[in-house]
Amino acid sequence: MKKVFFKTFGCRTNVFDSQVMMSRLEGYEITQDEAAADVVVVNSCTVTNGADSSVRGYVNQLHSKGNAKILLTGCGAHTKGESLLNDRKVFGVFGQSEKEKINTLLAAKQPFYELGDLDFIDNNIVDDFVGKSRAFIKIQEGCDFRCSYCIIPLVRGDARSINEETILIQIRNLAANGFGEFVLTGTNVGSYGKGEGRNIASLMKKIALIRGVRRIRLGSIEPIQIDDEFKEILSEPWLEQHLHIALQHTSKEMLRIMNRRNKFESDRLLFQELSEKGFALGTDFIVGHPGESDVLWREAMENIETLPLTHIHAFTYSKRDGTPSALMKSSINGMLSKARMQELTAIVDAKNIAFRQQYKGALEVLIESCKEGLYYGLDQHFNKIVVRSNEELEGNWIQVKDYTVEREYNYAEF
Ligand code: SF4
Repeated sequence: MKKVFFKTFGCRTNVFDSQVMMSRLEGYEITQDEAAADVVVVNSCTVTNGADSSVRGYVNQLHSKGNAKILLTGCGAHTKGESLLNDRKVFGVFGQSEKEKINTLLAAKQPFYELGDLDFIDNNIVDDFVGKSRAFIKIQEGCDFRCSYCIIPLVRGDARSINEETILIQIRNLAANGFGEFVLTGTNVGSYGKGEGRNIASLMKKIALIRGVRRIRLGSIEPIQIDDEFKEILSEPWLEQHLHIALQHTSKEMLRIMNRRNKFESDRLLFQELSEKGFALGTDFIVGHPGESDVLWREAMENIETLPLTHIHAFTYSKRDGTPSALMKSSINGMLSKARMQELTAIVDAKNIAFRQQYKGALEVLIESCKEGLYYGLDQHFNKIVVRSNEELEGNWIQVKDYTVEREYNYAEF
């Protein structure tokens, strides 16, 4: 049987999409060894210039080896697919909506370019996650927000939700196969059920009733989507004690320039409320967007000091053709962006250590991997923990009471 290697870039939604393609393979064998592959399916990302160059670099390196047929899919298919096909760097290009045809596409004798449509709704059910100890569940796709810097709505389409029963069947199957932790993912997860009389809180309550479900995590959510119904589930034992709430900036004027729907004053009140309930709080932040003057940067840093943050995904602005921000004049060079990134991450790293030092309770940990006799996992606050033990712990849930707070992780003997 011909061997297929899946290379997945980008977000958890891509991880899910790759799992769907793997679970549908017929007449082909999945290999984890790229060198042994007859075909390599590159599930690409295009959210930043960095993502584009990683994908292009990977495809060029594969192409120069010349061993395998290369197929490109994912968000990069919509932005880079045509040029990579015309340059004969890839044999075929297909959009996310075409992934169910994976066996036909793998067998294609002629080069192809099938982007499909951006309105499709994914009703695939996966009942395993190769090499993972937690399951990523796509519940939604696309986004109706129109942040001025973002290309995602152009490559993932408008917001639409996966059928509720499909999601619940999937989780029942995965829980029956031993998965206990579920990460709900999508492009704009908080938009789940929009316009259909359902929402993320009601879905999570139903998921929590499924036998074997131990912890539910959310990929990311927008501040304005944390409504009263969502606040009702905050004290549920199955909800991770960590939320990733995408702010993208903390200057009022920058949020306006970036066409964000959140407002700093209400963000600050929300974060305060959640922190008082013991939540660890993460966010996304884009540094160096056009308009980010020194004055606005100072304002943003003064504001971020007031937020009880514990985690940050900070990115430097990346001009994406086709977005409104791409037409804006930018005066922030790479050096300045880098310095601002360092200032920002240093502030949040210090807050993370302070959070871990002040927390006195037990840590609920799912051990995910083991390397050189040390076990690695994440606790309920999405903080890393390293555990030394003579027991076989991989895939196990453990409760840790005695541990030390190190710079980047907690450490325990078990
Ligand atoms: S919310 Fe904004 S940043 Fe997030 S995917 Fe939608 S448009 Fe992009």
